[in-house]
Amino acid sequence: MLLSVVLPVYNEAAVLESFHTRLVGAVAAVAGPEDSWEALYVDDGSSDQSVAVIHGLAQQDDHIRLVALARNFGKEIATTAGIHQAAGDAIVMMDSDGQHPPESIGEFLDAWREGAQVVIGVRTDNQSAPLVKSMASRAFYAISRSLSQGHLLRNSTDYCLIDQEVATAFRGYGQQSRMTRAIIQSMGYAQGRVEFAADPRMAGQASYSTRKLVSLALDALVTGSSKPLMWSAVLGGFLALVGFLAGCAVLVEQLILGDPLGWNFTGSAMLGILVLFVTGLILGSQGVIGLYLSAVYREVLRKPLYLVNAARSLGYRP
Ligand code: UDP
Ligand code: MG
Repeated sequence: MLLSVVLPVYNEAAVLESFHTRLVGAVAAVAGPEDSWEALYVDDGSSDQSVAVIHGLAQQDDHIRLVALARNFGKEIATTAGIHQAAGDAIVMMDSDGQHPPESIGEFLDAWREGAQVVIGVRTDNQSAPLVKSMASRAFYAISRSLSQGHLLRNSTDYCLIDQEVATAFRGYGQQSRMTRAIIQSMGYAQGRVEFAADPRMAGQASYSTRKLVSLALDALVTGSSKPLMWSAVLGGFLALVGFLAGCAVLVEQLILGDPLGWNFTGSAMLGILVLFVTGLILGSQGVIGLYLSAVYREVLRKPLYLVNAARSLGYRP
């Protein structure tokens, strides 16, 4: 069995040496005599000594491979590059700052051996995260659950394992804005989970700014679902319908029958109804335009049309 560990690196020079030692120890503790492994570092355009440190480590350890990206592309793309390169039967991806304890790799492998093709690391609550951040993360999962088909597991992290079949399928996803774990969790392969407590960083600083996190969350929501567009179309249609019915009622009751019910509608009330009707039409047609836009967007993404579970198929040839 070959295990690949994919490790995105951005300005982690201060932690890499101690992290790698820890990783080596953790893998040695779970690997059998038949097993081999590779530590696949992906340097995401670090501006510090990260690449030099990895080169140095590689002189003593030939398990190390390094993909150095030309500039900073962000963690999601860096992880993707790692998955593209990974040769393992099982591919584990984890942060290289020590927050994802390598000691849990054994549990990921156990779940994989028990048949899970995707094993997701679930964070037991991160006490060190500030209140605002943890509230924002709760809100994100709640919104994403209600928008999409309930794919994204709450507190799921990028610490995860996929098997070679899932990795092959993953290579078919070409979208620019991407949240790796959202893609992996939406594919539908048999899932397992491993719980772990996130450690504090071993050194250095988190490079994910609030701005980057918010834009990642928005990307995941917008690319994952077109329901908000649908809602605006439905709301617009509803407003237009209310305006239309109210308009008809006033027309008949007041202007044709001469106000037998004594509604006594003023001109501005009628104007209000007209505004309601027209606003509804505009909002509704905007929503419809949005739906076309999202249809175009889905085409542009060029997601794989389908994914096959080879193990469960009979006579399937990829
Ligand atoms: N990272 C990366 N590219 C970036 C930012 C971060 O590859 O542009 C890596 C970083 O080296 C680390 C992981 O992604 O291994 C998580 O980053 P960080 O610790 O900054 O984020 P947080 O722990 O707050 O999620
Ligand atoms: Mg971190």
